[in-house]
Order: sequence, then C-alpha cells, then structure tokens
Amino acid sequence: MRPVRMTRGWSQFAEGSCLIECGNTRVLCTASVEDTVPQWLRGKMQGWVTSEYGMLPRSCPTRVVRDATRGRPDARSQEIQRLIGRALRSVVNLHGFGERTIFVDCDVLQADGGTRTAAITGGYVALVEAFCKLRDQKLIHGLPVSTNVAAVSVGIVDKQELLDLSYEEDSVASVDMNVVMTGTGKLVEVQATAERLPFSRAELLRLLELAQKGIQQLIEKQNEVLRDLL
Ligand code: UDP
Repeated sequence: MRPVRMTRGWSQFAEGSCLIECGNTRVLCTASVEDTVPQWLRGKMQGWVTSEYGMLPRSCPTRVVRDATRGRPDARSQEIQRLIGRALRSVVNLHGFGERTIFVDCDVLQADGGTRTAAITGGYVALVEAFCKLRDQKLIHGLPVSTNVAAVSVGIVDKQELLDLSYEEDSVASVDMNVVMTGTGKLVEVQATAERLPFSRAELLRLLELAQKGIQQLIEKQNEVLRDLL
C-alpha cells in the first residue's frame, strides 16, 4: 500500500468530511444531510445515501474540462458515483435515520490512480461523521451503520501482482481490478478487467486475497480516525 492519510473534519460546513490521501491521490469527501428524500421514497419512512464524484481541472496531468463548461455530465464520473453510492449503502440501515438524504460528494484534488476506491474509503469516514452529528443532536438513536466499507485497487503489471496501483502502474497493467469489501470481509463489488492478457481464476483469487490485506489496513485507519467519535 502507498502511505494512507485520512483527515476527518476537514470541512467547516459539511456535517461530515474526510480528506483521504493514498500516495499522491487526494480526494476530499463531504457528507451533507438534507431533510428530504427522493420522490420515489417519500412516505416510506426511510432515508437515502447517494454520491457525486468529480475531478478538479488540474487534478490530472492534462486539464480536465468541467462538466458545467462541457454542458453534459461525464460518463466515467457517473459510473464512479453510482459505484460509491452502492458501496456506502451496502453498510447503511436506510431505516435508521428518518426521511433524510445524505449526499456524499467526492472531489478529486489530485489523481494518481485509485480515485474511486479512495472516494469509497474516505466517503465512509465522512458518512459516519455525519451520522455521529445527527446522533449527538439526538435526531437519531445510534448509528445506522452495520460495519465499515473500504476499497482498494489491485492489478497485474509485468506478471507481478500489485496492490494499490498508481497511475503509472495502472496505465500499463494487464489486469486492473477494484475491490470493495466490508469490515466483516464480505464483498460488495469487484470490477476486474483484463486489458491485453486474459487472466486465470487462480490469479483472480490471489488478487482478491491481496486486496483484502489492503482493505484490512484501510479499515484500521478508518477506525483510528473515527475512534473518538464513536
Ligand atoms: N486519469 C487522468 N485523466 C482522466 C481520468 C483518469 O489522468 O480524465 C488518470 C488518473 O490518474 C486516474 C487514473 O488515470 O487516477 C486511473 O483512472 P481510472 O479511470 O482507472 O480511475 P481510478 O483508478 O482513478 O479510480
């Protein structure tokens, strides 16, 4: 794993926030609470957790044009924000925080590979911080979260299995895989693709094991940074 740092409470205004740094990748995650739910959930006595993902123009070596300037949403960002939302909802009891929506906004300040996985890991910290705030304000009883959720990338570069790929490694990887896992070691999502060299089932299982080791470390860090809140 590249060095990981999580800074909780980074934002003055958001109910929850975490700046996550994985090597040179930096993602700011904020969790905002709104007292409404999407139309299709109204009256069902449940809440919703959703996510948005974006890259700042100079988060990449070449400038990324903002969606607002281009006039249409970016397909990659849409795919990623749906992944983040699914990952976070997998550990949340949607019936445990009333008719509220938590928006987890993940903004990439600097991209050096693994921005979607960092967004999930940091997004979890921001989300829990927001739930703690609701709990402290006595708006909810207990935290509606069953366990941690975190994610990491793994891949095969030059026949070598690697954990937590940087952009340089990612761009030449023959297998690229993102793994989302809970604190109980259960899988939430696995995105595994071969770019040039198809991979074997044995390689897939080894990569999963490697990912689990990384995710365990990330979960320890999440718990460390959340300890005094829980
Ligand atoms: N990247 C880039 N420009 C882009 C999209 C991606 O330079 O418009 C780089 C960036 O370093 C990113 C990496 O390519 O982290 C890998 O991108 P991918 O789509 O696999 O997502 P990620 O690994 O960041 O979740």
